[in-house]
Amino acid sequence: MSNKRLFKKVLSFLFITLLLVSITFPNAIRASGKNTLKVKENPKYIFYFIGDGMGAAQRQLAEYYSKQNTGKKLTMNTLPIAGINTTHSENSLITDSAAAGTALATGHKTKNGMLSKLPNGKDVKTLIEVAEEKDMSTGIITTTRLTHATPAAFASHNVNRSNENEIAVDYLDSGVDFFAGGGLRHFIPNNWTNDEKDAADRTIKSKREDDRNLLEEFKDNGYITFYGKKGVKDFRDYKPKKDDKIFASFTDSHMPYEVDRLNSLYKNNVPTLSQMTQKGIETLSQNKKGFFLMVEGGRIDHASHTNDAVGVIKETIEFDNSVKIAYEFLKKYPKDTLIVVTADHETGGLSLGYDSNYFLKLDSLENVKVSVEDNLLNSYKGDKEKFLNYIGENFGLSNITEQEKREIQDSIDLHNKGVTWGGYSPLAMSVTHILSRKANINWGTYAHTATQVPLSAIGSGAEHLGGYKDNTEVSQVLFKFLDKK
Ligand SMILES: [Zn+2]
Repeated sequence: MSNKRLFKKVLSFLFITLLLVSITFPNAIRASGKNTLKVKENPKYIFYFIGDGMGAAQRQLAEYYSKQNTGKKLTMNTLPIAGINTTHSENSLITDSAAAGTALATGHKTKNGMLSKLPNGKDVKTLIEVAEEKDMSTGIITTTRLTHATPAAFASHNVNRSNENEIAVDYLDSGVDFFAGGGLRHFIPNNWTNDEKDAADRTIKSKREDDRNLLEEFKDNGYITFYGKKGVKDFRDYKPKKDDKIFASFTDSHMPYEVDRLNSLYKNNVPTLSQMTQKGIETLSQNKKGFFLMVEGGRIDHASHTNDAVGVIKETIEFDNSVKIAYEFLKKYPKDTLIVVTADHETGGLSLGYDSNYFLKLDSLENVKVSVEDNLLNSYKGDKEKFLNYIGENFGLSNITEQEKREIQDSIDLHNKGVTWGGYSPLAMSVTHILSRKANINWGTYAHTATQVPLSAIGSGAEHLGGYKDNTEVSQVLFKFLDKK
């Protein structure tokens, strides 16, 4: 063989190999191919509820509290299919929300911090992207910033979850039909001069480093936009029509904690997760081809990070109210609807029980009026007596023991020295731990844990989601359903 012919042969071999590789590994890798599960179901309406940080203890604490106060179980705890999911990421047994969101959105493990990319940086397709390809309508609803890790894993790809301005730009071309949540600050230009307040009466301040006004760009892309305080009324009055696309961001950063909202002046001005879910259903259900809707209770995690028992309870109950809205929808279309309720990981190492006692005393949590993160942490201004009055008034801690007073004094000393516990002031953490001990509950960490999380499901195909599974297997089942379309 002449050199020339050999060269030609090698060249054509290389060409064919390249062609084969590009067919086998398209630009964005899909998860469902490797899973051999066969499904018959093809649910038209898919709800994917993710309680961020909602471990078994968070769910049960909220349920006991709810039963004690209203006699009602959580709706999610009544669904017929139950599963347990492992949550580890590619590089750690303890996941963060980016890697866990990626697992739930794409069926792939990745490194903590990465969003819908493999550890090597390659993009992986999300359930929302595939639902879009099947002409379904899609929605993302959350109580956090819309650009936070869990929602971001469904409609963007980034090596770092902190790149929230880039994530916001990704959303423009995501095709997602309904966005509702917080995080306005990543969608407005850095020269934003508007002095309107957000829905929780907070200042709106851009975090962008450029002068792009993504609200305007969403409009140019055909979206109806609602933002800040003044957007709330319009959002509530809005009557969805077929093919409408919605972008709604009501707060500068995260939506307020439910415990703060319920006891605030802006109580009726901030849309709740269930109200946003209701509007999402009304909008997306106009499409005859169905919808895929992800709803995140994002601040169950935040409350757990700050070891805030009442924060966890109120967030989880409102998350469950949203599940209930979906359940009402399922009752109308039982053969066509699937509801999945799961979590990305547990946070806080919450244990329902403490010391050598055999009781829970949830009454002690009933007089709490504010969250730990957004209120207690900012409440100490150097005056101990005022602080003691504050925790008496807002945490029901007016009759604390001498030992507890000493504990608070010690933590004031640490606070003044700039010491932090898990990144938080020891003073606020002492107070929240004193309160938790009164209820006889305890916290193991200020971060996430490796414990499994419960899953519940009902409706078309739900039985494929039960049992002991990894979180990637949950989304792989959902990909199978979408593949039937
Ligand atoms: Zn977290």
